[in-house]
Amino acid sequence: MTDLAKYTKELSDLFMSSDNILLICHINPDGDAIGSQLALYHYLTSKGRKVAMISPNKLQEFLKWMDGADNIKIFTGERKECIKYIEEASLIVLLDFNQQNRLGEVEQYVLRSASKKVIIDHHLEPQDLADLIISDTSKCSTAELLYELIKDIEGKPFNHIKFSESIYVGIVTDTGNFEHGSYTGRTLHIVADLLETGIDKERIHNLVYNNYSESRMRLLGLALNKRLIVIPEMKTAYIYLTQQDLNEYNHVMGDTEGFVNMPLSIRGIDFSVLFIEKSGFIKLSFRSKGYFPVNEFAAKYFSGGGHLNASGGEYNDTLENTIAYFLKALKETRISTD
Ligand code: 5GP
Ligand code: MN
Repeated sequence: MTDLAKYTKELSDLFMSSDNILLICHINPDGDAIGSQLALYHYLTSKGRKVAMISPNKLQEFLKWMDGADNIKIFTGERKECIKYIEEASLIVLLDFNQQNRLGEVEQYVLRSASKKVIIDHHLEPQDLADLIISDTSKCSTAELLYELIKDIEGKPFNHIKFSESIYVGIVTDTGNFEHGSYTGRTLHIVADLLETGIDKERIHNLVYNNYSESRMRLLGLALNKRLIVIPEMKTAYIYLTQQDLNEYNHVMGDTEGFVNMPLSIRGIDFSVLFIEKSGFIKLSFRSKGYFPVNEFAAKYFSGGGHLNASGGEYNDTLENTIAYFLKALKETRISTD
């Protein structure tokens, strides 16, 4: 566990002395990335700071309702404006990641920038990317870490409804709605504090989890019925989706969120993988139950990373070749670890 108090003064000084603050989340931002980004945005703007936000690519549909999300500039769509923000920033805060390749096309501009940089994150093994690295892997989410940091800066919980909502979304989504082992009693104390600020948890739950299209539900049907392969002797199951599948079911960003968790509910399966065909490469998501470090698997074979039980990576080949390569890697790993 990290003693956060030692960062409080330096962080607070940076926040209060920087003219143009820029908050950047990771590519394919999840609820924790956007939740942390918006929470910090609401905190800093309420303190009168000038703040801009960039996401390397588009937001998933189920996060677009969040207060402030419209102010996040999407690099792939608003390149010029985003580059200007990066060049003019006096402080850049990188949220919910610690590897430079998680910046996508934004990477080169951030690396080139002379601005002060801070990382706030909960993933393992941070790269030396910033002047101040606040990394605590004991936290279930970057949102939980950020909540504690702001509480330390303020000397008391920061009571602000938009801030609370954003932190709550980060915690709920990164714990899989309190399903993963990553949260602690401390997390639940924070959730209790957040609920007391008056957030409407039912409304948030419905906006995050019950807000999909009919075609997404049918895509899930296809995935489970026709695209799920179970390998009981390897305690593994995987789902693959082709570009054609996604097109046929009118896929929008965020539609496949959660698919990778489902095979873990099959008895005897402790490792689940989702392959999604993108243009020119395959995006992989990994989930496990118990002690199978999918972050190490993702790093070793798929230039990726993440957490013990949830990680992701990429592979630059066809879907067929990627699955064949994965099956080889799986054999190598499971036979040597079992
Ligand atoms: P998801 O499968 O939901 O996209 O990601 C699960 C976890 O793995 C998240 O913590 C995410 O940050 C991390 N992750 C996903 N894709 C990548 C990747 O390509 N590289 C790295 N380093 N981490 C990833
Ligand atoms: Mn996170």
